[in-house]
Amino acid sequence: MSRLVIVSNRVASAAEGKRSAGGLAVGVLDALKRQDGLWFGWNGKIEDTADPEVAFHRIGRIDCATTGLSRSEYDLYYRGFANGTLWPTFHYRIDLSRYDAREYAGYLAVNERLAGMLKELVGEDDRLWIHDYHLIPFARACRRLGLRNRMGFFLHTPFPPEGILRTVPPHRDLAEAMCEYDLLGFQTRGDAQAFLDYAQRRLGLPRDGDTLRGPSGPVRVGHYPIGILTDDVQSKSKARSRSKLVATLKQGLQERKLIISVDRLDYSKGMVERFNAFERLLESRPAYRGHVSFVQIAPPSRSDVEGYRHIRRQLESTAGHINGRWTELSWTPIRYMNRAYERAALLSFFRASQVGFVTPLRDGMNLVAKEYVAAQDPEDPGVLVLSEFAGAADELADGAIIVNPYDIDAMACALDQALDMPLVERRERHEHMMRVLKDNSIKEWRDHFLTDLEPPAVAA
Ligand code: ADP
Repeated sequence: MSRLVIVSNRVASAAEGKRSAGGLAVGVLDALKRQDGLWFGWNGKIEDTADPEVAFHRIGRIDCATTGLSRSEYDLYYRGFANGTLWPTFHYRIDLSRYDAREYAGYLAVNERLAGMLKELVGEDDRLWIHDYHLIPFARACRRLGLRNRMGFFLHTPFPPEGILRTVPPHRDLAEAMCEYDLLGFQTRGDAQAFLDYAQRRLGLPRDGDTLRGPSGPVRVGHYPIGILTDDVQSKSKARSRSKLVATLKQGLQERKLIISVDRLDYSKGMVERFNAFERLLESRPAYRGHVSFVQIAPPSRSDVEGYRHIRRQLESTAGHINGRWTELSWTPIRYMNRAYERAALLSFFRASQVGFVTPLRDGMNLVAKEYVAAQDPEDPGVLVLSEFAGAADELADGAIIVNPYDIDAMACALDQALDMPLVERRERHEHMMRVLKDNSIKEWRDHFLTDLEPPAVAA
């Protein structure tokens, strides 16, 4: 009997599984609830030993197998090549990317060690679904150990065009490793196209429709925009809309309109530009002064990776500068918070706001944008202002106000338009986006990917 084996950099602990925080965890847990299988990866711990072992736990009915990382593995693989080289490059930030050959060797070595561990846990009919930029060479490492299973890879980040990818010195090796998968999934058509272009031009691989002829066999390439648990978000936000936290938020607002943004504190999210756009709104339209508040929730992440400390300082000084200039005795324009909130609380904040301001400079999908829409009250929905450089813009362009996050004036205009939008138009836009989110929820994402991972039917 074929099982589904999911491999991702980070596997949730039993406690995290119950809280089910990030998008990947929600997707994985939902996929495994429907099919017997295993979730394998890092347990999030840095261990003293040089050679951490496998341990097992369960999240509900889901089997999980995890291992720790040694300090040097963490430094080279996670903090180094994955988050110091690939993350910035894949988000088009070559100014923040750096390369160190030892880190790349460490990245390959961790993939090999994890593949060796997984080999002992899988049966030959199991399907393997590998996730994200940490694990690009995982299939190749498995193939070298003799695993012949069907293997699919899904990249949650963008995939950059050739000119950017080539700034990573082992770009060719990485792309060749990707061709060891049977199926490669990307968030958008543009990301899939960027990979196909590279593979055809640089690797010289022949292409037949959506399939490349790789050295080890056919590689199917597709785009599978990740969705959310739309109904779950809707019901959670509604259930919490009369909570104490929401009451406190509303009390602080004193009838003022609320613009809200929620992100991991990451330089890809465009927060400085967003703060500046809010200030531009106050400068150019005095009527909003004292009448609209902007809440930015941004818990720090990867704070031990270079680049993250800088953006944090920049945000502190920008928020401080804007508040210093505009704050009145009874009104603070920007409330900038570095704390995390429980998922259901965030959703209820979204529902209590008039504008969701989601303007990454580059983002694979941006689940916050989708969650913002699903969390709204359909009778009186807020407006989504969304960056054209978020993967989500491909699906939500007809309902959101789409902006270029580098254009501060245009973002200020978009905020004005959103704050002033008549109810009829808000409802129409919201209804449109909800249809899209319901038609492509996380269930469709999983089903489409796993259907395409099945072996092609053999012609009679
Ligand atoms: P990324 O994967 O780059 O962090 P996404 O927007 O695609 O960005 O996904 C982030 C996920 O994490 C969403 O499901 C969102 O609800 C959750 N999240 C983001 N910020 C916070 C926060 N401040 N507190 C709790 N959860 C958050």
